[in-house]
Amino acid sequence: MRIIVQKYGGTSVGSLEKIRNVADKVAKRYREGNTVAVVLSAMAGETDRLINLAKDLSSNPDSREMDVLISTGEQVSVSLLSMALKDLGVPCRSLLAHQINIITDAAYTKARIINIEVGAIQKVFAAGEVAVIAGFQGITEDKNITTLGRGGSDTSAVALAAVLGADVCEIYTDVDGVYTCDPNICDKARRLDRISYDEMLEMASLGAKVLQTRSVEFAKKHNVPILVKSTFTDDGGTLTTKEDEDMEKEVVSGITYDRNEAKIALLGVQDRPGVAATIFSALADKNINVDMIIQNMSTDGKFADLSFTVTKTDFDKAMEIVRKKVNELGARDVVGDTSIAKISIVGVGMRSHAGVASKMFEALAAVGINIMMISTSEIKVSCVIDEKFIELGVRQLHEVFELDKPGSNFEKD
Ligand code: ADP
Ligand code: ASP
Ligand code: MG
Repeated sequence: MRIIVQKYGGTSVGSLEKIRNVADKVAKRYREGNTVAVVLSAMAGETDRLINLAKDLSSNPDSREMDVLISTGEQVSVSLLSMALKDLGVPCRSLLAHQINIITDAAYTKARIINIEVGAIQKVFAAGEVAVIAGFQGITEDKNITTLGRGGSDTSAVALAAVLGADVCEIYTDVDGVYTCDPNICDKARRLDRISYDEMLEMASLGAKVLQTRSVEFAKKHNVPILVKSTFTDDGGTLTTKEDEDMEKEVVSGITYDRNEAKIALLGVQDRPGVAATIFSALADKNINVDMIIQNMSTDGKFADLSFTVTKTDFDKAMEIVRKKVNELGARDVVGDTSIAKISIVGVGMRSHAGVASKMFEALAAVGINIMMISTSEIKVSCVIDEKFIELGVRQLHEVFELDKPGSNFEKD
């Protein structure tokens, strides 16, 4: 008997009619004789609504209470889907994180899953029922509620698929697969039939929110195939799986963008050992991830300017920490900029190709886009640009790298 984990995102359960549609899809799989666990996100817009309530109430909402609040959206959707399934005669049970012990660390609002006990879900399966599990949420060892970061129900689903030994983790969403770039901003985007874990990992971490980054990390580690499909059509689909011989090794296979970036610049910091360590340790202590970093010397050689990016979500907290440190270190000024975004090109074929980065820079320059920061890895190049040019930049790079045509920038031996 096949074990299938299906995850439905916010738009897929955005109304009662859509929840009934999901119930039909789950019922079909169940009646085919599969063992089914369904993971749900909150109804579309609900998590945002809850976050805004907290922000309207408090300038700096407590993160533990934030998780108690925002985890509630998923409780609503699992209960409603379970009712709809029971109406169809499908035996099922809704389950929240504390009922199946999805144990996480205590990093509220971006917790990591440490362990999931399968016993409770297996009991549900043994009773012949569908397990309808609230995504996004977890609990700490001492029973505090946590959440897994925005888009975290993807990670709940893949982690559950891993521990249950599922044959596949199906992610149902509002697009019918993973595309060469966000199909909602570029009409020439092309759907990929298959993508390797490594490429998907880069795409996700660079902003392609169709899968949360951690879900792909889990899938790669535990070798869980992820099938991304549309909730609303049966066509299409993209399989994320191990890289193999038959897989297209395009030099550039995708363009991504991330608007959730902000820049902080420390001007005139003393150029001596330990300064960067002091600042970045203070940020790390508060669980703030720093992405790109640039340090340049000023003309007198005694003072340096240090710029780096954090997520917009962490920006206020980061500015507060940096300002404190700057008082201790005696820097001249701290400047923040939240009007930036990051645009990236991704491709495993880049490993063995020169000239890809320069082609990207030329393409951006040709449409008048100024590059503020650059970072590269083996299989990606990222540039920080003005947020207002993101859509233009994505379309331009898609065009220049000819991503609408399969195999157009194939790796040639
Ligand atoms: P869900 O609520 O189902 O989890 P998300 O909004 O989190 O859905 O993710 C789906 C969205 O991801 C799509 O609507 C699309 O705009 C966006 N997206 C960004 N990059 C890509 C890409 N390369 N391929 C497909 N979708 C993408
Ligand atoms: N409801 C959560 C969010 O909006 C989790 C998810 O959608 O995966 O981020
Ligand atoms: Mg999502």
